[in-house]
Amino acid sequence: MPESHEVVIVGSGPAGLTAAVYAARADLEPVVIEGLGAGGQLMLTTEVENYPGFPEGIMGPDLMLRFREQAERFGTRFITADADRVDLSRAPFTVDVGGTEYQGRSIIISTGASAMMLGLEAEERLLGHGLSTCATCDGFFFRGHEIAVVGGGDSAVEEATFLTKFASKVTLIHRRDSLRASKIMQDRALNNPKIEMLWNSTVTALHGDDKLSGATVRNVETNVETVLPFTGLFVAIGHRPNTDLFKGVLDMEDSGYLITRPGSTYTNIEGVFACGDVQDHTYRQAITAAGSGCMAAIDAERWLEANHTG
Ligand code: NAP
Repeated sequence: MPESHEVVIVGSGPAGLTAAVYAARADLEPVVIEGLGAGGQLMLTTEVENYPGFPEGIMGPDLMLRFREQAERFGTRFITADADRVDLSRAPFTVDVGGTEYQGRSIIISTGASAMMLGLEAEERLLGHGLSTCATCDGFFFRGHEIAVVGGGDSAVEEATFLTKFASKVTLIHRRDSLRASKIMQDRALNNPKIEMLWNSTVTALHGDDKLSGATVRNVETNVETVLPFTGLFVAIGHRPNTDLFKGVLDMEDSGYLITRPGSTYTNIEGVFACGDVQDHTYRQAITAAGSGCMAAIDAERWLEANHTG
């Protein structure tokens, strides 16, 4: 027999765990399928200085542990495994986790997004130690440094421009000879005296043991490789929302982000809600994810109340 719940939450970053805190305090006894990579993107960062309430800053994994403890305190149950299949074709909805089925009268999806990486050997080790995927989060740590941004889209150009507030110089490394970013953002970056363009170039290696000390950059036309002494490198080559489980079932943008009804966390299926980065490619901050997790729990609670069948 599958386990039955009022709310099943899939995903355990700031959005899912905030939804769990609110749902648990509303006596909905949520179960969180937290995944093997529990905690989301903050588990891959070091210091978090912009999460309100922590004036001294807090390490990303410590912050997520606190979120989890808070959800647990009010009775949230955690399943530390990945969801394999989700059946949203009829209520109660079913989430299959390694052969065990969890049924929910409502489902909150908070599976997040993953920053795309370059696929270099040292990436995992240096992430949070000079290598970053979030300028808003980490730019502050590079005051006076010479740093680089990889990518040619709006994110890369926006991040490079933002980072000139802190860095003494920002090199924007792009694999082609023209940017994909919107014209206005390109102009802003190309006219910024602190930004230098490195066209037709890719990063082929990262250097440094405990923290980044440089990167090897290859010119793709000449194949000449140069080692440049960057102390910070921001990878801004796009994000991929974790929505494979919901393809063909939930409405999503071409880029894979789930579509929610404006001003709410409602998806196209009644009783299924989405929050956090899985439905937000604009803000992508822990605090905005947490805020939308709260919205999802309140939406679910009200929806369950209005659709009470038992
Ligand atoms: P994106 O538009 O997909 O651009 C990704 C960039 O990274 C491209 O320039 C791409 O090169 C490059 N790239 C991809 N894989 C790479 C690899 N393995 N190695 C090196 N370079 C690689 O992603 P995004 O910039 O994150 O933007 C995503 C969406 O959000 C877009 O729709 C964008 O307009 C929007 N956005 C808007 C704003 C804003 O309006 N303020 C800000 C940020 C993002 P190629 O160009 O050669 O493909």
